[in-house]
Amino acid sequence: MSFFQSLQNLFASRKRVIGATDLRRALTHDEFTFYYQPEWDLKTGQVTGLEALIRWESPNGIIPPNDFIPVLEETGLINSFTPFLFNQTLHDLRELYAVGFEDLFMSVNLSVVQLQDPVLLETIENSLNQYSILPEKLECEVTESRSFSTDGLEMETLQKLRKMGIKVSIDDFGTGHASLNYVKNLNTHKLKIDREFVKDLFDKPANQTIMRMIIELGHSLGLIVLAEGIETPEQEKWLKDNGCDYAQGFLLSRPLPLPMLISFLRANAVKFGLSPKND
Ligand code: C2E
Ligand code: MG
Ligand code: MG
Repeated sequence: MSFFQSLQNLFASRKRVIGATDLRRALTHDEFTFYYQPEWDLKTGQVTGLEALIRWESPNGIIPPNDFIPVLEETGLINSFTPFLFNQTLHDLRELYAVGFEDLFMSVNLSVVQLQDPVLLETIENSLNQYSILPEKLECEVTESRSFSTDGLEMETLQKLRKMGIKVSIDDFGTGHASLNYVKNLNTHKLKIDREFVKDLFDKPANQTIMRMIIELGHSLGLIVLAEGIETPEQEKWLKDNGCDYAQGFLLSRPLPLPMLISFLRANAVKFGLSPKND
């Protein structure tokens, strides 16, 4: 067996091993934590908000979301995770406000299963109240999946979120099934263009055409357009020159635990257009 095959087997077996019992334990033992990745305005360089990305600090090391979110969904455990998601991220946003980063917004990822949860809106409202966060400072990112119908329960939930003043963004735009009808009906705030297009921007010229089209489409619908996965200054320049509004990616910062994020924002406050309080 080659080294690569053994690695593949190792990953396959690790995935099989993650089950409901591990995840339930992780929930009760506080093993889930959020890392935060800044989004920035391409025109001004200002950091405007953060995306919360879940990590599982398991006894075997840090496990990324793609390895366990599907298991949380399949087992229905994701709905026990939702109150933690809003409590933790809004608690952390309040902490950022306390050190003086008062204009930032928090963006969280919601899966279709979470949108079907009958107590989702109540959960969100409770967390917003608990940490005194204005609804417009909260953004929910959704990736449209095949099971998502334009007149179903999920759509109704998203419309209620909009009515509450919470922003809704379309994640991984360009790769899924997001129809224009859906984007329009939802009164969406932002399109987040999938990293796939940025990754091969200069190797696959077709991606440049697609990017330009998505930027134009977003703007003609009155939406903000953000590109995910910016890793090089060349990509940043191209996006800026082609009218993309916002960016997110390793070029500025990887997702960071809260204390590291605060130090990073403090160290670059002037450049990021932020004015923190002195500690
Ligand atoms: P996403 O929402 O599209 O998040 C962006 C992913 O791209 C993150 O991966 C982030 O770490 C990664 N990324 C950002 N910039 C760069 C870059 O410049 N280069 C590269 N190579 N990668 C970059 P991550 O954290 O592993 O998350 C994967 C997906 O898991 C997320 O994709 C999101 O769909 C899902 N996810 C994360 N947290 C949650 C959560 O709390 N709830 C739910 N339901 N899903 C979550
Ligand atoms: Mg996202
Ligand atoms: Mg994405």
